[in-house]
Amino acid sequence: MTSQTSRRAFLRGGFTRQNPMRPFGAIGVMAFEDACTKCGDCARACPEGIVLKDAEGYPVVSLARGECTFCSACTDTCEAGALRADTPWTWRAEASGACLSRNAVQCRTCQDHCDQQAIRFRLQPGGNAEPLFDLETCTGCGACVAPCPVGAIQFTQIHQPAEASPC
Ligand code: SF4
Ligand code: SF4
Ligand code: SF4
Repeated sequence: MTSQTSRRAFLRGGFTRQNPMRPFGAIGVMAFEDACTKCGDCARACPEGIVLKDAEGYPVVSLARGECTFCSACTDTCEAGALRADTPWTWRAEASGACLSRNAVQCRTCQDHCDQQAIRFRLQPGGNAEPLFDLETCTGCGACVAPCPVGAIQFTQIHQPAEASPC
């Protein structure tokens, strides 16, 4: 989807796809696609190697490859202003229905890898334990993603970054 078609879909109210996870500091969805030149500088700058290209050539973060340390190397290198240091990281983790613990299989792997101690488990009848991710404590770093044995950690945005103009 091009930025023009993204904008058209948004204006029609048909903007239903999950937003791609852009690198740290990404401005609003449409403003980002307008500003980003697809130069790849952010991907080359990322010491964790977690910034890839999507099908259209825009940078996209894969937390399955490692966690984001919020080092700002990607943001600092973006000359187009598509990544800005003052944009908050709005992604937060949650567990999908594939989670072992939600299906009565003992697992606390994500909790063991969360330095923020953002994950606790609520016991349910039948031996299930539902992982609960605290939105305030979770930084959205993704350290819990790769260790999950079934790939059950997914991310949603708690709010959209404002459609600010790149500077
Ligand atoms: S903030 Fe650092 S670790 Fe995170 S995507 Fe940017 S360069 Fe990579
Ligand atoms: S590591 Fe994955 S399977 Fe295990 S409790 Fe966490 S979300 Fe569930
Ligand atoms: S994304 Fe980071 S802070 Fe949030 S639950 Fe996972 S490891 Fe903890």
